[in-house]
Amino acid sequence: KRKRLVEIAEKYDVLIVEDDPYGDLRYEGDPIDPIFKIGGQNRVLLLRTFSKILSPGLRLGIVIGNKTIIRKMVMAKQASDLCTPSLTQRIAARYLQRHDLLAQLKPTIALYRDKRDLMLAELEKNFGDMKGFHWTKPDGGLFIWFTLPESFNTGEMLEMGKAENVLFVPGEAFSLDNTCKNSMRLSFCLPPREDIIEGVRRLKKIVVEYGKEKNIL
Ligand SMILES: *Cc1c(COP(=O)(O)O)cnc(C)c1O
Repeated sequence: KRKRLVEIAEKYDVLIVEDDPYGDLRYEGDPIDPIFKIGGQNRVLLLRTFSKILSPGLRLGIVIGNKTIIRKMVMAKQASDLCTPSLTQRIAARYLQRHDLLAQLKPTIALYRDKRDLMLAELEKNFGDMKGFHWTKPDGGLFIWFTLPESFNTGEMLEMGKAENVLFVPGEAFSLDNTCKNSMRLSFCLPPREDIIEGVRRLKKIVVEYGKEKNIL
Protein backbone atom coordinates (compact mmCIF):
# COMPACT_ATOMS: atom_id res chain seq x y z
CA LYS A 1 0.00 0.00 0.00
CA ARG A 2 2.81 2.38 0.92
CA LYS A 3 4.69 1.70 -2.32
CA ARG A 4 1.50 2.19 -4.32
CA LEU A 5 0.83 5.48 -2.53
CA VAL A 6 4.26 6.77 -3.54
CA GLU A 7 3.67 5.69 -7.15
CA ILE A 8 0.38 7.58 -7.24
CA ALA A 9 1.95 10.67 -5.63
CA GLU A 10 4.70 10.61 -8.27
CA LYS A 11 2.22 10.19 -11.09
CA TYR A 12 0.22 13.26 -10.02
CA ASP A 13 3.23 15.09 -8.57
CA VAL A 14 1.84 15.68 -5.09
CA LEU A 15 3.63 15.78 -1.77
CA ILE A 16 2.85 13.19 0.91
CA VAL A 17 2.72 14.29 4.54
CA GLU A 18 3.40 11.17 6.58
CA ASP A 19 1.99 11.59 10.07
CA ASP A 20 3.73 8.84 12.05
CA PRO A 21 3.30 9.14 15.81
CA TYR A 22 3.09 5.36 16.44
CA GLY A 23 5.85 3.83 14.30
CA ASP A 24 7.96 2.91 17.33
CA LEU A 25 5.06 1.36 19.21
CA ARG A 26 5.13 -2.02 17.56
CA TYR A 27 4.01 -5.18 19.35
CA GLU A 28 4.64 -7.86 16.78
CA GLY A 29 5.66 -8.48 13.18
CA ASP A 30 8.55 -6.92 11.30
CA PRO A 31 8.92 -3.15 11.41
CA ILE A 32 7.43 -1.47 8.33
CA ASP A 33 9.46 1.11 6.42
CA PRO A 34 8.10 4.63 6.62
CA ILE A 35 6.71 6.00 3.34
CA PHE A 36 9.54 8.52 3.64
CA LYS A 37 12.06 5.75 3.12
CA ILE A 38 10.27 4.57 -0.01
CA GLY A 39 9.48 7.96 -1.55
CA GLY A 40 12.46 10.01 -0.40
CA GLN A 41 12.64 13.56 0.87
CA ASN A 42 11.42 15.25 -2.27
CA ARG A 43 8.17 13.35 -2.21
CA VAL A 44 7.50 12.80 1.50
CA LEU A 45 7.55 14.96 4.60
CA LEU A 46 7.84 12.76 7.70
CA LEU A 47 6.29 13.97 10.95
CA ARG A 48 7.21 12.35 14.25
CA THR A 49 6.32 13.34 17.80
CA PHE A 50 7.56 12.81 21.33
CA SER A 51 3.95 12.77 22.53
CA LYS A 52 3.42 9.00 22.34
CA ILE A 53 6.92 7.83 23.22
CA LEU A 54 8.21 10.26 25.84
CA SER A 55 5.76 12.88 27.09
CA PRO A 56 2.82 14.65 25.44
CA GLY A 57 3.32 17.68 27.70
CA LEU A 58 6.61 18.59 26.04
CA ARG A 59 4.65 19.53 22.88
CA LEU A 60 7.60 18.55 20.72
CA GLY A 61 7.62 17.02 17.30
CA ILE A 62 10.11 16.38 14.54
CA VAL A 63 9.84 17.00 10.84
CA ILE A 64 12.17 15.30 8.38
CA GLY A 65 12.19 16.33 4.75
CA ASN A 66 13.19 18.71 2.04
CA LYS A 67 15.13 21.74 3.32
CA THR A 68 13.22 24.29 1.24
CA ILE A 69 9.89 23.10 2.60
CA ILE A 70 11.15 22.98 6.18
CA ARG A 71 12.50 26.54 5.88
CA LYS A 72 9.01 27.68 4.86
CA MET A 73 7.54 25.77 7.80
CA VAL A 74 9.96 27.52 10.17
CA MET A 75 8.80 30.89 8.82
CA ALA A 76 5.14 29.93 9.28
CA LYS A 77 5.87 28.74 12.80
CA GLN A 78 7.72 31.94 13.65
CA ALA A 79 4.69 33.89 12.52
CA SER A 80 2.40 31.81 14.73
CA ASP A 81 4.35 31.33 17.98
CA LEU A 82 7.92 32.64 17.40
CA CYS A 83 9.54 29.35 18.47
CA THR A 84 8.91 26.08 20.28
CA PRO A 85 10.08 26.67 23.88
CA SER A 86 13.81 26.07 24.16
CA LEU A 87 13.37 24.70 27.68
CA THR A 88 11.29 21.71 26.55
CA GLN A 89 13.63 21.21 23.58
CA ARG A 90 16.58 21.05 25.97
CA ILE A 91 14.78 18.60 28.24
CA ALA A 92 14.15 16.28 25.29
CA ALA A 93 17.69 16.73 23.95
CA ARG A 94 19.19 15.90 27.35
CA TYR A 95 16.97 12.84 27.63
CA LEU A 96 18.10 11.60 24.22
CA GLN A 97 21.76 12.19 25.13
CA ARG A 98 21.51 10.22 28.35
CA HIS A 99 19.10 7.45 27.45
CA ASP A 100 18.49 5.05 24.64
CA LEU A 101 14.92 6.02 23.87
CA LEU A 102 14.10 2.80 22.01
CA ALA A 103 15.49 0.68 24.87
CA GLN A 104 13.50 2.76 27.37
CA LEU A 105 10.37 2.07 25.34
CA LYS A 106 10.59 -1.70 25.78
CA PRO A 107 8.63 -1.89 29.07
CA THR A 108 6.06 0.53 27.64
CA ILE A 109 5.64 -1.67 24.59
CA ALA A 110 5.25 -4.75 26.79
CA LEU A 111 2.58 -2.93 28.83
CA TYR A 112 0.63 -1.79 25.77
CA ARG A 113 0.91 -5.23 24.15
CA ASP A 114 -0.61 -6.77 27.25
CA LYS A 115 -3.47 -4.25 27.25
CA ARG A 116 -4.05 -4.79 23.55
CA ASP A 117 -4.28 -8.54 24.11
CA LEU A 118 -6.67 -8.03 27.01
CA MET A 119 -8.97 -5.75 25.01
CA LEU A 120 -8.95 -8.20 22.09
CA ALA A 121 -9.83 -11.05 24.46
CA GLU A 122 -12.65 -9.02 26.04
CA LEU A 123 -14.03 -8.07 22.61
CA GLU A 124 -14.00 -11.75 21.67
CA LYS A 125 -15.78 -12.64 24.92
CA ASN A 126 -18.47 -10.01 24.51
CA PHE A 127 -18.96 -9.79 20.75
CA GLY A 128 -17.34 -12.95 19.38
CA ASP A 129 -20.62 -14.71 18.67
CA MET A 130 -22.47 -11.66 17.32
CA LYS A 131 -23.00 -11.53 13.57
CA GLY A 132 -21.58 -8.50 11.76
CA PHE A 133 -19.26 -7.41 14.58
CA HIS A 134 -15.56 -7.46 13.83
CA TRP A 135 -12.39 -5.65 14.81
CA THR A 136 -8.75 -5.21 13.85
CA LYS A 137 -5.86 -6.97 15.57
CA PRO A 138 -3.27 -4.19 15.41
CA ASP A 139 0.46 -4.98 15.28
CA GLY A 140 1.22 -1.56 16.74
CA GLY A 141 -0.22 1.78 17.80
CA LEU A 142 -2.74 2.43 20.53
CA PHE A 143 -6.09 1.61 18.97
CA ILE A 144 -8.48 -1.09 17.85
CA TRP A 145 -10.90 -0.30 15.02
CA PHE A 146 -14.23 -1.84 15.96
CA THR A 147 -16.87 -2.30 13.27
CA LEU A 148 -20.54 -2.97 13.98
CA PRO A 149 -23.29 -4.05 11.57
CA GLU A 150 -24.20 -1.34 9.07
CA SER A 151 -27.40 -0.20 10.74
CA PHE A 152 -25.47 0.96 13.83
CA ASN A 153 -24.50 4.64 14.11
CA THR A 154 -21.62 5.09 16.55
CA GLY A 155 -22.01 8.90 16.52
CA GLU A 156 -25.50 8.44 17.95
CA MET A 157 -24.19 5.93 20.47
CA LEU A 158 -21.64 8.37 21.87
CA GLU A 159 -24.12 10.00 24.29
CA MET A 160 -25.09 6.58 25.66
CA GLY A 161 -21.38 5.90 26.09
CA LYS A 162 -20.88 9.12 28.02
CA ALA A 163 -23.73 8.20 30.36
CA GLU A 164 -21.93 4.90 31.05
CA ASN A 165 -18.51 6.58 31.32
CA VAL A 166 -17.24 4.82 28.21
CA LEU A 167 -15.65 6.95 25.54
CA PHE A 168 -14.73 6.06 21.97
CA VAL A 169 -14.17 8.06 18.82
CA PRO A 170 -17.00 7.60 16.32
CA GLY A 171 -15.70 6.27 12.99
CA GLU A 172 -17.18 9.22 11.13
CA ALA A 173 -14.41 11.42 12.54
CA PHE A 174 -11.94 9.51 10.33
CA SER A 175 -13.95 9.79 7.14
CA LEU A 176 -14.16 12.49 4.48
CA ASP A 177 -17.28 11.15 2.81
CA ASN A 178 -19.69 10.26 5.61
CA THR A 179 -18.65 6.62 5.71
CA CYS A 180 -17.45 4.62 8.74
CA LYS A 181 -20.61 5.55 10.68
CA ASN A 182 -20.82 1.98 11.96
CA SER A 183 -17.24 1.88 13.26
CA MET A 184 -15.49 3.27 16.30
CA ARG A 185 -11.92 3.68 17.50
CA LEU A 186 -11.13 2.12 20.86
CA SER A 187 -8.00 3.00 22.81
CA PHE A 188 -6.30 0.41 25.02
CA CYS A 189 -3.42 2.67 26.05
CA LEU A 190 -4.47 4.54 29.19
CA PRO A 191 -7.04 2.48 31.12
CA PRO A 192 -5.82 -0.03 33.71
CA ARG A 193 -6.66 -3.70 33.06
CA GLU A 194 -9.79 -3.74 35.21
CA ASP A 195 -11.17 -0.69 33.38
CA ILE A 196 -10.61 -2.36 30.01
CA ILE A 197 -12.63 -5.36 31.17
CA GLU A 198 -15.39 -3.19 32.65
CA GLY A 199 -15.31 -0.77 29.67
CA VAL A 200 -15.87 -3.49 27.08
CA ARG A 201 -18.64 -4.94 29.27
CA ARG A 202 -20.39 -1.55 29.32
CA LEU A 203 -19.81 -1.15 25.59
CA LYS A 204 -21.68 -4.41 25.07
CA LYS A 205 -24.52 -3.06 27.21
CA ILE A 206 -24.68 0.10 25.08
CA VAL A 207 -24.65 -1.92 21.86
CA VAL A 208 -27.49 -4.15 23.09
CA GLU A 209 -29.51 -1.16 24.32
CA TYR A 210 -29.03 0.79 21.07
CA GLY A 211 -29.75 -2.31 19.00
CA LYS A 212 -33.04 -2.93 20.82
CA GLU A 213 -34.06 0.72 20.67
CA LYS A 214 -33.56 0.77 16.90
CA ASN A 215 -34.89 -2.73 16.42
CA ILE A 216 -31.72 -3.85 14.64
CA LEU A 217 -30.46 -6.53 16.99
C1 LIG B 1 -0.64 12.15 18.85
C2 LIG B 1 -0.77 12.34 17.40
C3 LIG B 1 -0.07 13.34 16.73
C4 LIG B 1 0.91 14.28 17.39
O1 LIG B 1 0.40 14.99 18.41
P1 LIG B 1 1.25 16.11 19.13
O2 LIG B 1 1.01 15.87 20.57
O3 LIG B 1 0.64 17.38 18.64
O4 LIG B 1 2.66 15.97 18.73
C5 LIG B 1 -0.23 13.44 15.37
N1 LIG B 1 -1.04 12.62 14.70
C6 LIG B 1 -1.73 11.65 15.30
C7 LIG B 1 -2.58 10.75 14.48
C8 LIG B 1 -1.63 11.48 16.67
O5 LIG B 1 -2.30 10.50 17.27
